[in-house]
Amino acid sequence: MTTSTSPNSCAEIVTIPVDLAERVESVLGRVADACRDAARRPDEVTVIAVTKFHSASLIRQLHALGIRNVGENRHQDAAPKAAELAHLDLTWHFVGQLQSNKTRAVLSYARIIHSVDRPSLVRALARTEEPCEVFLEVNLTDDPGRGGVEPDALDALAEAVLAESSIRLAGVMAVAPLDESPRSAFARLRLLSERLQRIAPEATAISAGMSGDFPDAIAEGATHLRIGTAITGKRPAAP
Ligand SMILES: *Cc1c(COP(=O)(O)O)cnc(C)c1O
Repeated sequence: MTTSTSPNSCAEIVTIPVDLAERVESVLGRVADACRDAARRPDEVTVIAVTKFHSASLIRQLHALGIRNVGENRHQDAAPKAAELAHLDLTWHFVGQLQSNKTRAVLSYARIIHSVDRPSLVRALARTEEPCEVFLEVNLTDDPGRGGVEPDALDALAEAVLAESSIRLAGVMAVAPLDESPRSAFARLRLLSERLQRIAPEATAISAGMSGDFPDAIAEGATHLRIGTAITGKRPAAP
């Protein structure tokens, strides 16, 4: 165990397990390596630590290690953690399926939604009148039952966002399919990002890359990595 005080939390003592510190350092090192291989600057890439199923105390430890972006996928788990850690300078990203009736509650702590997949959700976000930033989740699999908008419907979904003044369109998001090399899936996502930028020139962000495939995502232009277990270690069972 190492002990450190985090500067933003008045004399709050945070004890950091050595293995957690090592995993953070290792992931950040691999991100830097992948950026160098892709001739990209590391500051083009935001590392989001996905902390779903983990406790608020783990997030406090990550904060003390310098992590400032965290991702959660279920409102009922995220809300109490965000409330407990409201005094820390953390940016909360919502990366899971979002029900339209939860938009107001989620936007009370997370202003960046990575999983916008339908126009009705865009309208629900707009009705809250809270400013937010969204990624459009694209389904890269052949299975229409999987999460995300079909590539053919991406432009129409983008138009729905562009019609709302409270919502900023950040870009596209995807999860690599299991039955394809992540690199080729992320290459398709990059083409969809370029297509999106024809109607939304500022929507340049790409949310892609998880523990098993983030170097491939960086190689294909990802700007926001959603990394869970490579940082946090094994996830506890779903609460
Ligand atoms: C859980 C999750 C991640 C992180 O997954 P790991 O494989 O643990 O890195 C990323 N994105 C989404 C949408 C998730 O639900």
